[in-house]
Parts: sequence; structure tokens; C-alpha cells
Amino acid sequence: MALRNIVKIGDAGDFALHSQAREIKRFDDRLKTLAEDMIETMHKGNGIGLAAPQVGILKRIFVMNVIPEEGNFVIINPEFLDKSGENIDYEGCLSLPGMYGKVKRSDYVKIRYQDLNGDTHEMEATDLKARCIQHENDHLDGIMFTEKTIGKLVQESQLIEGNSDEISDEDS
Ligand SMILES: [Zn+2]
Repeated sequence: MALRNIVKIGDAGDFALHSQAREIKRFDDRLKTLAEDMIETMHKGNGIGLAAPQVGILKRIFVMNVIPEEGNFVIINPEFLDKSGENIDYEGCLSLPGMYGKVKRSDYVKIRYQDLNGDTHEMEATDLKARCIQHENDHLDGIMFTEKTIGKLVQESQLIEGNSDEISDEDS
């Protein structure tokens, strides 16, 4: 495993953050290595999710670890089967360190996705996990959360007191 460089807004390679990622058709060792590297990079950055475009790879894969007891997930070629509810909360992004903005997301999502072997699964998620899935899926479509932010972006120190502990873990 190896750490990958996270593309940040303003970097020379930041077009990857604004580009459509391609469907994955080959489930080989190279993909497994990418997933392992992304998991290591996500944890090193204290993030709960990381999408391949954030490490400069325009492929439809993201990793997440929202609920530590559930461990890491590798989500490939995700599709939404269902979405409902509404939830407005702050979120952050490893590609824009230290900045947070309020984004409206669905409170519940159901997705279909493939794992590293190409096998198909379905997953339901609510709350922060649902938010993370939507944030990461947006990265696969070249959309940054800042394009959906309601109101101003704020720095971590400006977050409403009492929320900051919760928020600081939400970079994805
Ligand atoms: Zn992000």
C-alpha cells in the first residue's frame, strides 16, 4: 500500500475534480492496489470518504469508512436506486482542507454497486453515511460540494460551537 497525493482545488491537476469519471470494467490487481492506496490515504487524511478523482484517477470508485465498526467499504460503479428525505448539514472535503459548507442531501439512499471482484451488491444508508455516499458520488461526476453549498463556506473555527467535533471528522 502507498499513500497517494490528494488533488486539491487550485492544484495544477484539479481538472480531475471537475471531470466525469469512467465506468470500471476491469476488476484486476491494479484496481485492488488503487483501492488499498485510497483507503490508506483516506485514513491518513482523517477523512470518512475518498473518491478516485481526488487522487487524479478518473474512474468510478470511492472508498468510505463512516461507521468504524462497519470497517472500510470499496464502492465501484455506484447507481442510486432510491433517495428520500432531506438533511441540511455542514460537510467538508479532503480536496478543500479546512473549509466547510452546508449542503442539502437526501437523508436516505439505496445504491447498487460492485465490489473489487465485480460482484454486485445493494446498500441502504441514512444520515452521515448517506451524505458521504452522495458527496463521493458527486466526485465521480466532477461535482464539488462547493457547487451545492447553501450560504458561505466557513473555516473550522467558525463552525457553530458544539458542532465542531462532529464536523471535523466529515472531510470526504
Ligand atoms: Zn470530497
